[in-house]
Amino acid sequence: MHTSKYRRRNDSAAHYRGLVASSSALRTTLTLAAESVAYPMIMLNILDEHLQHTLLTVGMDDRPSLHRTDVLCDSVMRTGRPVLITDLAADERGQLPSLPDSGIRAYIGIPLTGREGLPVGTLCLLDVAPHELGADGIHTLTRFAAVVEEQLDLLRRRDPSPSHTTTDELAAALDADQIIPWFQPLVDLQTDTVVAFEALARWQHPTRGLLEPAEFLPLAEESDLIIDLDLAILARAVRQLRDWRSTHPELRVTANLSGRHFQHPDCVDRLRETLRAAAVPPDAVILEVTETASFPVNDATIAHITALRTLGFQIFLDDFGTGYSTLQHLLHLPCDGIKIDGATTRTLGTPTGDALIRALAGLADELGKLVVVEGIETPAQAAKAQQLGATHGQGYLWSPPTPTDAMHTDSDLGTVASPVRGCSTGITVSEPPPRPSEVRGNRLT
Ligand code: C2E
Ligand code: MG
Ligand code: MG
Repeated sequence: MHTSKYRRRNDSAAHYRGLVASSSALRTTLTLAAESVAYPMIMLNILDEHLQHTLLTVGMDDRPSLHRTDVLCDSVMRTGRPVLITDLAADERGQLPSLPDSGIRAYIGIPLTGREGLPVGTLCLLDVAPHELGADGIHTLTRFAAVVEEQLDLLRRRDPSPSHTTTDELAAALDADQIIPWFQPLVDLQTDTVVAFEALARWQHPTRGLLEPAEFLPLAEESDLIIDLDLAILARAVRQLRDWRSTHPELRVTANLSGRHFQHPDCVDRLRETLRAAAVPPDAVILEVTETASFPVNDATIAHITALRTLGFQIFLDDFGTGYSTLQHLLHLPCDGIKIDGATTRTLGTPTGDALIRALAGLADELGKLVVVEGIETPAQAAKAQQLGATHGQGYLWSPPTPTDAMHTDSDLGTVASPVRGCSTGITVSEPPPRPSEVRGNRLT
């Protein structure tokens, strides 16, 4: 389904993060690695798209999962190279929220590569005193990291749990309402107002904890189960929207739609029925279609999309700039906007990345379509995206996807719902977004 390196890396990390890494061999390797450079603490981390999961620690307490933006190992994953900070008190990276009260003064992060050949995590060493380390020390740790990679691969071969979900189990989870939407705001870059929330599927698994789409969507996509999943998420999203619209009548939701829907003649009816049950009009809903192999651009698809737009739904092409998305689709599919994938967003600020986004935004504008840039994490990226022609943005800068029980609707109209910096631990409330009000014309603009 997803072909970008970015997605493959998340899929790869998903194989490791559920491993039970308490093997004594792995513990011994970690202990020796720490001793070889006289660091008192070491941990083995797996980083997926959002979180750092600590599989094993030596010389320190167990660690909860932390958001990637709050951890030093994020930069090791991004660069794929070792990072050494000899004194955090003299380094701006020492200001990360997970650090100030911890007493940690020195940090080393060594990247770990998974079986798929992509970075999946880190060996992370910590000291409570400033600690210099020469190139020899880093080289030694890199060799220990290679051993850890081998041991993890062995565990992965033995471990039956990750990605062995069956279609029956997934279907039962849908019936049991375990698959629910989390919501992420979509922001008008010009007015800096929240105009919609994207519903993103999460599986509250009874034994494995919270699972992200990379761990169950590929299985759902193999059959028409994805249709039930999409409709279940849409149904819950529009029920939630109905509540929000009682105080914020112009707010919308956007939901992801697999191309498989278009292979069924009754696809438009099913979508319309799902909204009717919640008494939400189609013009309050944006459908994001991801261009995959299961998305044939033929007359039937075009007829379905045209019928949906006639009813009032807006259609966005998701993940533009990666995978299967092509300019041909932008030219020939009736749609209201494109969403530029987070992997492309990460190239903002480079000559090629800027040129690509400027060209896509220019073309979309010529064709009268909106341009949402996804995966915006910094104010600089938001400013750059807008300067290059994007109309809307989405990303951790405003809020990560968040469960509704961590959002609070506020009837005093200053707030739609305070997005929170959310992860399985340590939820903190960030600045509330401005009220969603700027909707011009009958299309989200
Ligand atoms: P998408 O629709 O392109 O959603 C954007 C993804 O980027 C989400 O991942 C979101 O959590 C993540 N993201 C948002 N802002 C940032 C940021 O600032 N930085 C980074 N690094 N990531 C950010 P998520 O929730 O894991 O969803 C992955 C994909 O799974 C979605 O990509 C979508 O294609 C698919 N998906 C999710 N829910 C559904 C669903 O209900 N139905 C279908 N068919 N697909 C779904
Ligand atoms: Mg989407
Ligand atoms: Mg996308």
